[in-house]
Amino acid sequence: MVDVLIIGAGPAGLTAALYALRAGLRVTILEKSIYGGQVSITDVVENYPGIESISGIELAKSMYEQVTKLCCKIIFETARAVELNSDVKKVRTASKELEAKTLIIANGLKRRTLGCKGEEEFSGRGVSYCATCDGNLYKDKDVIIVGGGNTALEDALYLSNICKSVKLVVRKNLFRGEKYLIDSVHKKDNIECLMESKIAEIKGERAVKSVVIRTGADKIKELEVSGVFIAIGYEPDNKIYEGQLDLDKNGYFISNEECKTNIEGVYVAGDCRLKPLRQIVTAVSDGAIAGTDAIRFVLSKN
Ligand SMILES: Cc1cc2nc3c(=O)[nH]c(=O)nc-3n(C[C@H](O)[C@H](O)[C@H](O)COP(=O)(O)OP(=O)(O)OC[C@H]3O[C@@H](n4cnc5c(N)ncnc54)[C@H](O)[C@@H]3O)c2cc1C
Repeated sequence: MVDVLIIGAGPAGLTAALYALRAGLRVTILEKSIYGGQVSITDVVENYPGIESISGIELAKSMYEQVTKLCCKIIFETARAVELNSDVKKVRTASKELEAKTLIIANGLKRRTLGCKGEEEFSGRGVSYCATCDGNLYKDKDVIIVGGGNTALEDALYLSNICKSVKLVVRKNLFRGEKYLIDSVHKKDNIECLMESKIAEIKGERAVKSVVIRTGADKIKELEVSGVFIAIGYEPDNKIYEGQLDLDKNGYFISNEECKTNIEGVYVAGDCRLKPLRQIVTAVSDGAIAGTDAIRFVLSKN
């Protein structure tokens, strides 16, 4: 049994680990994908105090190396089920059951999907959720981006420098993003904005060939494209905790200032919990608070 089990190796989970490891506790992190979480898919970070500008992957790597140097055990598997109502907290993956004195859930958010026909079928074969990761695969090709917020606008600008043409499909008749991004998008010759429009279907054979778009007036048109980038935001992924931990109506964990949940010894940190600002600085702050309280909790039981 470990002292602290952490679900998620994003900024919140890695910071919680850093604090607990420096206090001499035995720590294991479960990570289902790549370390760094959302930071690892961020192009450049320019609002982390003390660092003027750094690539997301570089920041993620340095957070990761800081904890692995302190002998943190990291298991690259998905937490699939939890049992939290006894002193020993249990987490199951596909291959093992892990036991811990305290659990810190720092599982971030998952990408929202469109849910249209063809999206899942062509995921990784023309459908992408990360322009900075996959943009280069579409050099001099025609692509579509779905979304009306900052991410979609940034992605459109990024892809306009690589692709032949970029069509931005926006559900409403206005953008939700920052004015300077909207202005920059309008200035680009190879970006076209399709307002009050929705993707009805993504079509192809081995890879994406076209998308069917429905406009506000219920007109349907089919556009030939090689890539579809979906940038419609993120949502919590806390289903496995339902019935054990308190969640709000949108599925975010409810916790207090110390990141404590309704179960003693179980903490939540970072984007997964109800909070006013979801950023790297607030995720690492939660990680530090949860990690410190977990240390107190473990020491009080020894
Ligand atoms: C494109 C983009 C750009 C951004 N730019 C900035 C920026 O410039 N500045 C800024 O401050 N913030 C930025 N953000 C927001 C910032 O990245 C997040 O607020 C921050 O990463 C949240 O950290 P976290 O540790 O709470 O969650 P995450 O970073 O989401 O990490 C959660 C981790 O948990 C893992 N996980 C999830 N479920 C499980 C499971 N069941 N089992 C095991 N592991 C699991 C995930 O794989 C992930 O690695 C950006 C976000 C995006 C998407």
